[in-house]
Amino acid sequence: PKYVFDFAEGGRDMADLLGGKGANLAEMARMGLPVPPGFTVTTEACRVYLETGEPPSELAHQISKHLAALERAAGRRLGQVDDPLLVSVRSGARFSMPGMMETILDIGLNDLSVLGLGRTPERERFAWDSYRRLVQMFGSTVMGVDSTWFEDALAGIKKQHHAADDTQVDTSDLIRLVETYKDLILRVTGEEFPQEPAEQLRRAVLAVFTSWNGERARLYRHREHIPHDLGTAVNIQTMVFGNLGPDSGSGVAFTRDPATGRPGIYGDYLPNAQGEDVVAGIRNAVPLQELENLDPGSFGRLRDCMRQLEAHYRDLCDIEFTIERGTLWMLQTRVGKRTSQAAFAIAGQLVDEGVISPQEALGRVDGEGLARLMFPRFDSSGTRDVLARGIPASPGAAVGAVVFDSAEAVRRAADGEKVVLVRQETTPDDLPGMIAAEAVLTSRGGKTSHAAVVARGMGKVCVCGAEELTVDPHERLFSTSSTTVREGTVVSVDGSEGVVFLGAAPLVDSPVMRYFEAGGPPPGQEAQQVVRDVHRLVGQADEARRMEVRANADTPEDAARARRFGAQGIGLCRTEHMFLGDRRPLVEAMILAHDDQEREAALAALLPLQRQDFTGILEAMDGLPVTIRLLDPPLHEFLPDLTELSVRLARLDALGRRPDPHETELLAAVTRMHEENPMLGLRGVRLGLVVPGLVAMQVRAVAEAVVARTRAGGDPRAEIMVPLVDAVEELRLVGEEVARVLQEVSVETGVALDCPVGTMIELPRAALTAGRIAQDAQFFSFGTNDLTQTTWGFSRDDVEAAFFSAYLDKGIFRSSPFETIDREGVGRLVEIAVAEGRAARPGLKIGVCGEHGGDPESVHFFHDAGLDYVSCSPFRVPIARLEAGRAAL
Ligand code: ADP
Ligand code: MG
Ligand code: MG
Repeated sequence: PKYVFDFAEGGRDMADLLGGKGANLAEMARMGLPVPPGFTVTTEACRVYLETGEPPSELAHQISKHLAALERAAGRRLGQVDDPLLVSVRSGARFSMPGMMETILDIGLNDLSVLGLGRTPERERFAWDSYRRLVQMFGSTVMGVDSTWFEDALAGIKKQHHAADDTQVDTSDLIRLVETYKDLILRVTGEEFPQEPAEQLRRAVLAVFTSWNGERARLYRHREHIPHDLGTAVNIQTMVFGNLGPDSGSGVAFTRDPATGRPGIYGDYLPNAQGEDVVAGIRNAVPLQELENLDPGSFGRLRDCMRQLEAHYRDLCDIEFTIERGTLWMLQTRVGKRTSQAAFAIAGQLVDEGVISPQEALGRVDGEGLARLMFPRFDSSGTRDVLARGIPASPGAAVGAVVFDSAEAVRRAADGEKVVLVRQETTPDDLPGMIAAEAVLTSRGGKTSHAAVVARGMGKVCVCGAEELTVDPHERLFSTSSTTVREGTVVSVDGSEGVVFLGAAPLVDSPVMRYFEAGGPPPGQEAQQVVRDVHRLVGQADEARRMEVRANADTPEDAARARRFGAQGIGLCRTEHMFLGDRRPLVEAMILAHDDQEREAALAALLPLQRQDFTGILEAMDGLPVTIRLLDPPLHEFLPDLTELSVRLARLDALGRRPDPHETELLAAVTRMHEENPMLGLRGVRLGLVVPGLVAMQVRAVAEAVVARTRAGGDPRAEIMVPLVDAVEELRLVGEEVARVLQEVSVETGVALDCPVGTMIELPRAALTAGRIAQDAQFFSFGTNDLTQTTWGFSRDDVEAAFFSAYLDKGIFRSSPFETIDREGVGRLVEIAVAEGRAARPGLKIGVCGEHGGDPESVHFFHDAGLDYVSCSPFRVPIARLEAGRAAL
């Protein structure tokens, strides 16, 4: 197979094979933008290497052919002594993994070609600096020498000369440094730094392949749900130099503000530097606008390139570029990561600009982003101790104890503590800590620094470049001109405003949350832009979607909120909480009844209370369906705990006291009903079938509530749902009782009652016999929580902590099946039940009421499976609306 593609042969639609970076480099080259020439080794070659430990046998030959062509075109050879061609070897996977894998610059330099590169006196320092960088990068990434040893050697020289930064280290010191580095490599590895350019290239390519499985790359993929078997491509590209003097430099640019979405030119520029320096935040960059003064010609060309890229990709692009002696070179572009707020803003703007259609705009936002916009903010009224201000790099409000290294962040977070990771700047090694922390705070680096890019990608709060802070990780503190803050101190980080406060600042609802809570009119001109953007896109989703969105709500308050949030009914009203609190004694009496009479008395006392509950909910959801589920949990959950009760009685016994006869009776009942495995015990429809009168009481309460609402002029639409059905016979028996009671109440009151009776499909047997069950069910609702537990054979409460993270690591799960529906197994049962249920009863209404109803990926599955609605918690309703609309595109 063809493992190597010249930039001229690729394009943006080849990202699977060429990786994102390679595909976009090819695309830019094809557009005629100034891209240093090069070629890409495919992800396929990487996969072969990862599987077999050897690169494909044709690879070396294909690389040398492409290299030869590159050399011919350049008129120079790799590592040539008098005027060497140098290349970079850059990782680049299908999905962007910022800084998680390796890139090696200046391949081709050696003891001789460094002299050729530095052939004139003004280039001498630059040449040795480049060589120094190569030996360091190659030594650590390819040859495995701990990079801190190199850093220590450099720091030692800087200290000797009281040099503030790298630029002040002179040529003779750089020459000495290269010698030190080479000695170091020899000492640690027993091997010389390879002088042969082809050898350098070959080993660098393999090192990039290997970096795919590096620890931080694996961790990043795990966190971002990126599959582990894709592999990375490798880009081999002619070097251009941003470190050739003040008329050179490197920068990063965005075609719109990635934080707010505002159009314009945003970015950072660092004169006289190689690109890595910008991202690493080694020196502080200047805002990109200043390039207009420094080098108006290059600035103008950059602006043109950016315009072309936006028009071409029809989206926000981020760009890496380098200027070599006044010549602009484009080194990377991609559709850029952005905050949720910016995603909504840009989608709207692009529609207004006529660039994309409203449907496309819907594809540019997502439910998780909307969820983030609903998170609370810090209250801006009132005064607080501002510790520092920095760049608002990733929005949101976070409160936590400050920590100064990744390991400490991980340790404390594992104990349940909320932490804020404070660093001078972050590196990819800080990834575990960034994941563990609520927020990241750095004292250096701009909106494009590693901390900012990674935090934005993860939706984590970040303030960067807070220059007033002096961070001292060794002493575990940071200080400002007036305060010293030690590890463990609680601070509040406002990533939207770029401010850090001492202590825990109070939180308020976000404007988007307030908009949904108001539940009413569209926002006016005076509303914040983000609210108008959200309103518009969620409205578009409502138009596009086929599925309805209902809510899971058990109280009138929740029902009313759900309605404000746009729910079109209640998909699950649980009745268990109606049996708790001060109603407990009545429930206890029902369970402990000695005869029918006692039980009926207890049920009769519960009846009016339940009726009242249902009336309130039906009123809040007037005109919309309310699916009421009959009692589900095992009865002993309403009785005292077996162990506690036994201990209490044993203690009384030991004291020689006679226990209360009621307690003795209680203990007997609890013991009788104790189940080893209550999840698989007497619950759901089984309860209704063995506790006489229970179903009748609940149904009567529903029926009487409907009557009351009807008489009050309302439009109640109750539906009765039977849980945990395995066999159609169960449903039939309960269904007959339901019909009898409805009929009774109808006759008593003269009000016609039309309450559909349906069932949950939450056991594999029910799904597999759905055709028969549908004969007695007027609707289905998938209870995907129980269905997941019973399909996999593990209970959520018992196993999540025990082995889920190991399963995620081993790639058995890509995400927890309780969060995102397992399409292959549980999803298959859903498909079977939908097909057989509708075959038996055409037009059967089918929904889902498990947690998955509010999970974006699962919503897409339910759409594909042909469901009529999803039901989720009230706060997730807007998210489900948006995702149901996106699913229908
Ligand atoms: P990452 O994926 O971590 O961003 P890159 O492959 O983009 O890694 O490389 C990091 C930086 O190295 C780039 O931003 C760029 O500035 C610099 N670089 C890479 N290739 C070249 C090149 N051919 N010439 C000059 N600089 C380069
Ligand atoms: Mg890059
Ligand atoms: Mg259930």
